[in-house]
Amino acid sequence: MESKVITGFDMTERIRDLCSRADAFVVTDANVALSYASLFDMNRTHVVPAGEDSKSLAVYEQVAHAMLGAGCNRMSTLVAVGGGVVGDLTGFVAATYMRGIRWINVPTTLLAQVDSSVGGKTAVDLGDFKNILGAFHLPKEVLVSTHFLYTLPEREWLCGVGEIVKTMFLSRRVHDALSGRLDRLLSRDESVLSECVRECIEYKKHIVEQDFYEHGPRKALNLGHTIGHALEKTDKHRLSHGEYVLIGLEVEAYLLRDMLDEDIYDEMTECVSACNVTVPDFSCEEVASACLKDKKNTGGDVSFMLADYEETREVKLSLEEIVRGLMLWKLSR
Ligand code: NAD
Ligand code: ZN
Repeated sequence: MESKVITGFDMTERIRDLCSRADAFVVTDANVALSYASLFDMNRTHVVPAGEDSKSLAVYEQVAHAMLGAGCNRMSTLVAVGGGVVGDLTGFVAATYMRGIRWINVPTTLLAQVDSSVGGKTAVDLGDFKNILGAFHLPKEVLVSTHFLYTLPEREWLCGVGEIVKTMFLSRRVHDALSGRLDRLLSRDESVLSECVRECIEYKKHIVEQDFYEHGPRKALNLGHTIGHALEKTDKHRLSHGEYVLIGLEVEAYLLRDMLDEDIYDEMTECVSACNVTVPDFSCEEVASACLKDKKNTGGDVSFMLADYEETREVKLSLEEIVRGLMLWKLSR
């Protein structure tokens, strides 16, 4: 139960060959199709609009119709070339088309390379509710070619950086690969970038192998996400997901500062401020109650991850503690 992950700087030839294979059917989005037109054989490629709205049942249906029209059968291989949206959508089609067919993922955003392409989670949204219809369906291969990352707009770049900074405090190897070199990552220095992408993938693969269905260790990946998701919701997605995660890392560190290792606290806040994210104004009560509504909470308290590399663990705070902590954090800035 594992995907073969192949990383490299420029795998253009290999990806072009894959996309023109007789058994392949390719899904990509409009931006990627435009920027990397030479990769695709348009007779066997379906292009979806760029953006989260393509993770819908309507687009899912269009892809399945296009596959039927192209004669895809149980022996076909679906190929996703794009960010997390294309990966999640294509993976879900692959999980269900004729009760499940093979698929290969070619992630083209930093977030997709370090996070969403590993772990086999696939899904579409149902209206405003994210990832409601989904399946665990591992791609046979993941081809991670970092040359794609140089055409990413700054906001999408920062989105992936958020997940990388998070992983720095979950994995000592990622921490050591990045410590003191965050500025080089932020300027897209190829050697730091490729090492970092490789280490983040290794870490995620390791976590997923231990806990495929997310009952235990995989929860650590939610570091920064309790506040991050709540802000994302209350601020109506004005920033990228990773930017909310960066703010979430700093705010959660503050809320848990009495329990958190001092060096981790200092380094985390330093890293987050180096990323220069503009924090939106927010209502403490609204954000706290959005935390409580998170589908990962079962009782009356809210679950947070307390960063400590491989020993990261879950802790709980009450609604009142969160509101008070958020108010104090605002005052401290
Ligand atoms: P995305 O797929 O929407 O891509 C972001 C933008 O970048 C899009 O406009 C896209 O067209 C563009 N783009 C893609 N590659 C490019 C390139 N090389 N150069 C220039 N532009 C490019 O967003 P994303 O951030 O990659 O993924 C977000 C999605 O991933 C969300 O739907 C989220 O739920 C999902 N996700 C899934 C998992 C998982 O485990 N399956 C984990 C995290 C996030
Ligand atoms: Zn995330």
